[in-house]
Order: sequence, then structure tokens, then C-alpha cells
Amino acid sequence: MLKIFAKFLDLIFENSCLICNESCGQDFICKNCENSFTLRDKNNDIKHFKEITVYSWGMYDGRLREGIIALKSGKKRLADFFAKELIDFWNSLSKEIRNKNYIIHPIPSHKKRIKERGYCQTTLISKRFAQMAGLSFSDDLILRKKQTKFMNGLNNLSERKENIKGAFKIINPINTKNILIIDDILTSGSTLCEVAKTIHQYNLDVNILGLTVAAGDKYN
Ligand SMILES: [Zn+2]
Repeated sequence: MLKIFAKFLDLIFENSCLICNESCGQDFICKNCENSFTLRDKNNDIKHFKEITVYSWGMYDGRLREGIIALKSGKKRLADFFAKELIDFWNSLSKEIRNKNYIIHPIPSHKKRIKERGYCQTTLISKRFAQMAGLSFSDDLILRKKQTKFMNGLNNLSERKENIKGAFKIINPINTKNILIIDDILTSGSTLCEVAKTIHQYNLDVNILGLTVAAGDKYN
């Protein structure tokens, strides 16, 4: 009788996949969606920009793209899911990369965008990531002072660079040697590079690493 009742409760409290809305038991994401993600090659698929090196977990297409859009459109619980995947990915990287006392910092959103959305999705992911990694978290070292256009509406690299130029400002002393900047999507790398450049203008001795949930097809 108890078993039947437990099964009944499971049915009532069954989750719908946050991406495709199919029923998925106690998970946030159904197996179909999860198995459809294209993961990037962590050993060979590292982006070395002049200012920053970036690691990305998945490919920004298909259901993963839909998931990131859903996270930005109100499905906040997806931040926990992506943070968990990012932790597994991070733990699979070499100790040489990971064994530093990083401060985790999100790419900051402009206050107007946070007001519109009600939250900053990169802050949600970064905070959860830091908790699980046992690392310090801060979201008040760097501020986005300029409201930039959406990067995916811009066609080429020079437009993206121009859009993001001078967008960030250091607002608190950076007294750390290592910062891990987390973002949801890596496209041209302009945003992460601009943040790294802003930090280095303030303090050249900071080692900066980037980590993103997904990377766009520009980097196939
Ligand atoms: Zn699904």
C-alpha cells in the first residue's frame, strides 16, 4: 500500500523537463535533451585569446541553446543544472589548471537588464558553481557600466568589439592572484577579453581564466 502511495506521489510531483516540457521524473532535464548536447573537446578545444584562456563545456546549438535561452527567459532552476555540469567539466580539467585559489566572478549584466529579467543568469550559475567547488565568490569587483546591444544581433568581430569596448569598470580592489570569470555563452570572445583587459588595466598580476557553459559555432 505504501509503495503504491509513494508511486502516486512520484507521479504527482514528477517534473517537466525545463527545456522540452516532457515528463522527466525527479530530474530537471529529460534524458533525451541531456543526451542530445554536443560536448566540446576539453583537451583540444581551448580558446587562447591574448587576454584570457577560455574553456567551454558544450556547443551552443540544439537543445543546449534552447536551455540557455530558457534560463534567460525565467527558468531560473536551469542555473543549478548548468552549474552542476560545469563543475563536472571543471573537475575533469587538469589539476595544474584547477589548483589555484580562484575567486569566481560572473560576467556582470547591466543593472537595467537585471531589472528587466529579475536576475542575472551568470550570477546564479557562478554562485552555485563556487559553492560546489568550495571557492570564493564575488559579483562586485567588476561592474557593467554600459548597456550593450545583444551580441548575437551583431554580425562581425569588429562590431562586437566596438559594442563591448569600455563596457566594464572595476569597482572594488582586486586583491587576488586568480580570477575565474564565468559566462553562459562564448561567441567571439569579445566580452571575456574586454573584462580581462579591464582587470589587467587595474592589476597586471592577476591570472584570469574563463569558463562558459557553451561556445558558439564560430569555434567549430
Ligand atoms: Zn527535455
